[in-house]
Amino acid sequence: MDELLRQTADLAADFLRQLPERPVGPPVDSAGLQAALGGPLPDGPVDPGQVITDLAAAADPGIVASAGPRYFGFVIGGSTPAGLAADWLTATWDANAGMYVAGPSAAVIENVAAGWVLDLLGLPPTASVGFVTGATMASFTCLAAARHAVLAKSGWDAERDGLFGAPAPRVVIGAERHVTIDVALRYLGLGSDRVLVAESDQQGAMLPEALRAILDAGEGPAIVCAQAGNVNTGAIDPLAEICEIAHGHGAWVHVDGAFGLWAAATPALRPLLDGVASADSWATDGHKWLNVPYDSGLAIVADAQAHVAAMCLAASYLIGGLDGQLDAFNLTPESSRRARGIPIYATLRSLGRSGVADLVERCCALANRFAVRLGSADGVEILNDVVLNQVLVRFADSDEVTREVIARVQADGTCWAGGTTWQGRGAMRISVSNWSTTEADIDRSADAILRAYDRR
Ligand SMILES: *Cc1c(COP(=O)(O)O)cnc(C)c1O
Repeated sequence: MDELLRQTADLAADFLRQLPERPVGPPVDSAGLQAALGGPLPDGPVDPGQVITDLAAAADPGIVASAGPRYFGFVIGGSTPAGLAADWLTATWDANAGMYVAGPSAAVIENVAAGWVLDLLGLPPTASVGFVTGATMASFTCLAAARHAVLAKSGWDAERDGLFGAPAPRVVIGAERHVTIDVALRYLGLGSDRVLVAESDQQGAMLPEALRAILDAGEGPAIVCAQAGNVNTGAIDPLAEICEIAHGHGAWVHVDGAFGLWAAATPALRPLLDGVASADSWATDGHKWLNVPYDSGLAIVADAQAHVAAMCLAASYLIGGLDGQLDAFNLTPESSRRARGIPIYATLRSLGRSGVADLVERCCALANRFAVRLGSADGVEILNDVVLNQVLVRFADSDEVTREVIARVQADGTCWAGGTTWQGRGAMRISVSNWSTTEADIDRSADAILRAYDRR
């Protein structure tokens, strides 16, 4: 075992050493990958050392350097050293973090991490936190709590009686919400298409007056899905106004802040999230801006009782808890799960309050540097107000040229950026979310992008 782990640590260290200079998204020969990794299931055991050596070699050509400093696709963070190392220990301890009795240290560590996250993000210290796979399941969990609470107000027990015959809650979403909100609503029986859509402004932030008009037009229980950090523009809904309007109508406010919620961790950007603490639930990711290894999301609910009512797992042989608190499986959709709060704990402890603020501010400054470099070239237009770490770039005011530039950049391998359509116009999407990205990485990437544009 010793030898195997040392050998694996060497492989990991080699990979990380080369990561910054790996081609970022080289074309992958998927048939070659399939041939190298596939074949029939071995009839009998294979030496673990051999399995790991072969696995690392065969997988290598198909590994995207998404953990590296010049990957700007989607919203993808890397792994901080402490987060990655803690993730190894998490797998080594192999605690089932659902139950205190199966992992007292995991439970305590997650509890501490939860408190630190609430503190950093300026959320109510009494909120409950579930460690889930990502923002999708975080929104699912939070909206399950919302469903419980709004139906309970109408005297309906959603968990016991289901939704057949229940008073139908009104669900309001913003026009530019993330698609995973639709998915969460679908999972919850609230339907992705029976929602009411509040218009957004040009940056993708919900218009409070549109929300007010929708809520004024009807009555009964309501859930409002707001957003902190639009996946294209980074725009943050005016949360103070939204909460005030929604609460005036007795509605629950959920905030999808998969990455944008982390702007609250820096005094410089916190004003953008003014009012965030008065919402009722928040979904965020550890694996995006906090640079915790996959998978890592947090479902945060102000009313812990609603959270537990929606997620609790009751069985007579499952007795709980930490100091009289409930077992953690009462806060997540899973029963058994890995202790994914441990890498969050280690990441926060190693960065500290100022380190998290630096990380967030640095990514925003680098996004801004990108926008300035690209936007000053002829024929290149920045489509969004760069308020956070997201930049939308359009070339020659043409969908076709923009698509071509994106394809060339991806084939070149200096950096990687994907495409999107923003309000009917094709654009390159740049997200600066990695802890290790430097100004030099931005300059080198901007040069590569402009080269791809010049040579089209
Ligand atoms: C990424 C993202 C999600 C989904 O998060 P996962 O971690 O992929 O589940 C939801 N909302 C927003 C705004 C996002 O950026």
